[in-house]
Amino acid sequence: GEVNFKEDAKFAQHMKKGGEAVSDFAKSKSLAEQRQYLPIFSVRDELLQVIRENQIVVVVGETGSGKTTQLTQYLHEDGYTANGIVGCTQPRRVAAMSVAKRVSEEMETELGDKVGYAIRFEDVTGKNTIIKYMTDGVLLRETLKDAELDKYRVIVMDEAHERSLNTDVLFGILKKVVAQRRDFKLIVTSATLNAQKFSDFFGSVPIFHIPGRTFPVKTLYSKSPCEDYVAAAVKQAMAIHVQSPAGDILIFMTGQDEIEAACYSLAERMEQMAASTKDVPKLLILPIYSQLPADLQAKIFQKAEDGARKCIVATNIAETSLTVDGIFYVIDTGYGKMKVYNPRMGMDALQVFPVSQAAANQRAGRAGRTGPGTCYRLYTENAYLNELLPSPVPEIQRTNLGNVVLLLKSLKIENLLDFDFMDPPPQDNILNSMYQLWVLGALSNVGGLTDLGWKMVEFPLDPPLAKMLLMGEQLGCLNEVLTIVSMLSVPSVFFRPKDRAEESDAAREKFFVPESDHLTLLNVFLQWKEHQYRGDWCNDHYLHVKGLRKAREVRSQLLDILKTLKIPLTTCGHDWDVIRKAICSAYFHNAARLKGVGEYVNCRSGMPCHLHPTSALYGLGYTPDYVVYHELVLTTKEYMQCATSVEPQWLAEMGPMFFSVKDSDTSMLEHKKRQKEEKTAMEEEMENLRKAQAEDERR
Ligand code: ADP
Ligand code: MG
Repeated sequence: GEVNFKEDAKFAQHMKKGGEAVSDFAKSKSLAEQRQYLPIFSVRDELLQVIRENQIVVVVGETGSGKTTQLTQYLHEDGYTANGIVGCTQPRRVAAMSVAKRVSEEMETELGDKVGYAIRFEDVTGKNTIIKYMTDGVLLRETLKDAELDKYRVIVMDEAHERSLNTDVLFGILKKVVAQRRDFKLIVTSATLNAQKFSDFFGSVPIFHIPGRTFPVKTLYSKSPCEDYVAAAVKQAMAIHVQSPAGDILIFMTGQDEIEAACYSLAERMEQMAASTKDVPKLLILPIYSQLPADLQAKIFQKAEDGARKCIVATNIAETSLTVDGIFYVIDTGYGKMKVYNPRMGMDALQVFPVSQAAANQRAGRAGRTGPGTCYRLYTENAYLNELLPSPVPEIQRTNLGNVVLLLKSLKIENLLDFDFMDPPPQDNILNSMYQLWVLGALSNVGGLTDLGWKMVEFPLDPPLAKMLLMGEQLGCLNEVLTIVSMLSVPSVFFRPKDRAEESDAAREKFFVPESDHLTLLNVFLQWKEHQYRGDWCNDHYLHVKGLRKAREVRSQLLDILKTLKIPLTTCGHDWDVIRKAICSAYFHNAARLKGVGEYVNCRSGMPCHLHPTSALYGLGYTPDYVVYHELVLTTKEYMQCATSVEPQWLAEMGPMFFSVKDSDTSMLEHKKRQKEEKTAMEEEMENLRKAQAEDERR
């Protein structure tokens, strides 16, 4: 790990030479010239011809060949926007934003004018918009309002290889749209070569290959498994920076915390180096992950000043969604985060997993875009060959389907097993999601949407949050619950810099409402409002002003939906107990019982869970017997994120079938009995589904 400083003179020379070759391309060429240099440009006319002749085309090309940024523009240039919009879906919001920005620059229009984007709670499009980038979730919601997607002339389903949950559902829905609308075109793009599957699904449609223009990448493996891949990655990056010729570095990590730690450690190493030697070449350290503010995200595309080297530290967002030119070195930790349904917890959790071989190869490929590159794998070749799955498991087969079930039900797809899935989700996933929706009161005993369920569909929220909102209506505290739901829909607003941990913790404690982290969030928002939504007030109180502003925006958008549903905004004033009741109703599946000091078990699954050290509930002076929580996060322990103390009788009283008990005089016993009957009915229904599926499989 010791850095050899004697190499410095030679190194500086290297950097100078390489730097010119690599980074000046963008500087010296206009955007129009850059467009013509992309691989897709060489096949532009043939591609457009194939699209003219076919209603559905699968387009395959290496990452960076220009699919995402160019296809939409080509379609525009070929006249498709004369009567309709060209839409392009992305599985990731960061990609939707960043690509829209790039394309607006290439087309010399303001972002939001001719070219715009839409992600959940953020619509940057206007009446002039003809090219619209959006997350697949946004388009999926649009199909609820407009089943035939009339305003779109073409939809490009980008990054289909990612097999995100929403993309998978869209496949089935768009297949129908194509059958119904002769004037509609569908283009499915994929970075990898398993395009045949997409083609088969849509009925043997043509596959168009964009010729690649990549350079060989040398892959080097660790000799032994590495214990701390953050430290190992930092060490490797420093070794490259000091010893290897010019070219930027891309490090793959799993998430924000690790990325921040790695960046911090890199900066520290650079400082130490600067202190001990004079001629230190610059290293531009650039993090990128989905929660990073957009202006900082954009920095990864900026050219480093002459002689400097860029080191991008990224999540798997940089695997295929975003392409940065000039990367010559990739450092692959071999891990990534995935949302996976955890049956023990009875819910989805972001968990760290080894990547698949396909993903590892994709990562390595990032080093060979501008010239021959090198990929350092921080794992053994044996691990690559024997421990990694060949390709990733599609999201639909590993996550909770609550939202999807709700959505498909509202599209009148009665039997979910009849839906045209490319890879049907495991029946256990469907059944479990149905069960949770039923518990929330969104599904009836025969599996249809209830009135509540129909209302829940209207909100771009996870089912529990939609339920909380609607319960706020029933209990007369909608105004307050609306704020809580909005605050839960943005990243944490509490700012906790490492070097001022104590001050920031003290500042946070001042906001505590001892019974509830949810009410604490409400309190923060109300105090911010009292201080005229001021930014300096946020800074003084260790709050992220951007997060709070976002929450305010989300709030006003949810309010618009409530208005269209003609749901009046009720308030409970200072009686906050009733809010806790509304919170309780949303989280039956996340109710926990006290077991020891700060130690709980989930009432249903028996899963242990702990109060988070930053929870307001510690302010009570005692630990409440029952709590509900927003979600469980796995770090050193299973921590309950955002908890609220509840009365046990609320759990019993509002019990799973709260919404079906119309007669409020029904005795407790009667209620219990009916609950039991209904549960049995639901279980029968599920058994029927199960049988139907088994039947299907046999055929
Ligand atoms: P693909 O979708 O085939 O992976 P893209 O269309 O995303 O390819 O990328 C084409 C080129 O556009 C790449 O060279 C990439 O570096 C560049 N590019 C994409 N987005 C941006 C951006 N926001 N800023 C600068 N360059 C970008
Ligand atoms: Mg792309």
